[in-house]
Amino acid sequence: MNKKSKVILLPCSSYREEIVYENLEIGLELLGGIEKIVKKEESILLKPNLLKKAEVDKAVITHPSVVGMFARLMREKGYQDLSLADSCGNGTTTRVIHGTGIDRYLEKYGIPAIDYSKGIRVEYPEGIQAKEFILPKELLEKDCVISLCKMKTHALERITGAVKNSYGFVYGFHKAKGHTLYPSADSFARMLVDLNQYVKPRLYIMDGIVAMEGNGPGSGDPAPMNVMLMSQDPVALDSVFCNLVHLNPEMVPTNYHGEKMGLGTWKKEEIEIVTPDGTITMEDAVAQYGNPYFDVDRRVARSGMWERLAKALNIFQKKPYIDPERCIRCGICVKSCPVPDKAVDFRKGRENPPVYDYKKCIRCFCCQEMCPEKAIKVK
Ligand code: SF4
Ligand code: SF4
Repeated sequence: MNKKSKVILLPCSSYREEIVYENLEIGLELLGGIEKIVKKEESILLKPNLLKKAEVDKAVITHPSVVGMFARLMREKGYQDLSLADSCGNGTTTRVIHGTGIDRYLEKYGIPAIDYSKGIRVEYPEGIQAKEFILPKELLEKDCVISLCKMKTHALERITGAVKNSYGFVYGFHKAKGHTLYPSADSFARMLVDLNQYVKPRLYIMDGIVAMEGNGPGSGDPAPMNVMLMSQDPVALDSVFCNLVHLNPEMVPTNYHGEKMGLGTWKKEEIEIVTPDGTITMEDAVAQYGNPYFDVDRRVARSGMWERLAKALNIFQKKPYIDPERCIRCGICVKSCPVPDKAVDFRKGRENPPVYDYKKCIRCFCCQEMCPEKAIKVK
């Protein structure tokens, strides 16, 4: 019988340092010890979700307490060569973490934050969707990566969890370009799977103590899910996240393609869920820790002819729109739009909110992701 993918589920309803620390320590023990995953002499990059500068309690970024207590644990276990970085959606690592508390923890545990300085083209002939990536020089210099992801909703992929967190490995503006190269949810998901298979993070730890529901990943609402999840299989981890929020995991493109392309499994019969009190079934996990009211897109996607027709006619497509009452005309959405001649722009002057040209829009939702005022929604 094939070995199951192990996902550690840690019930945790507080960001208090000692509670988070204790849970992370238990989680690593349940995985068989961090020493089995990463060698002491290796250089390790910690990769939190640092989408953009935002107040910590808005659940936009991986909580500082999770990042800080994991850093402490690694230091206490004797890991010397640790650093932290993300290719943030808006701003550099040091700018985004400034004042969040992550900066304070890094200082305390002597861990440098890296602002990526250069992108290097790497070829990946084995890739199914992506044959090359532009990755930061500083990332390529490390022996391994540990992903510290956040449990959030996402307009394009329904959720952003373990697999999607790896998009922050792509260097700078090449992230925006990636949306034009892989404009559909499926092609983007396949590229993400290739990326995970290229970089191969050794471990994924998900902060789901307070998740984000609704208009994620940047403008949703905090929703306590009271768990942390850990796994070396990012698809299995995301599948547990989906099950907990009553979303069919197969409907998430990164899960569907992740399983097909051999990154991991979303199938419950192939996942072993381990808690500090022992192994439980997916049904038990959902019954004990799930939330059927979590606001996430559970609609069944159209497929085949109907989808192609809807796309061709540009109807029944999800699209972003701006709430003029909330918009402060900052222009971040315009800057974030990867379409060369801008699908959203100040077509009626800077004194009015930007206006969409839906014929140009590729529905990547970067504008919605980066709007600092929650002014962009998807309908
Ligand atoms: S990013 Fe948001 S607030 Fe800024 S101009 Fe665009 S819609 Fe308005
Ligand atoms: S307008 Fe928004 S959703 Fe459309 S292509 Fe530009 S960033 Fe993407």
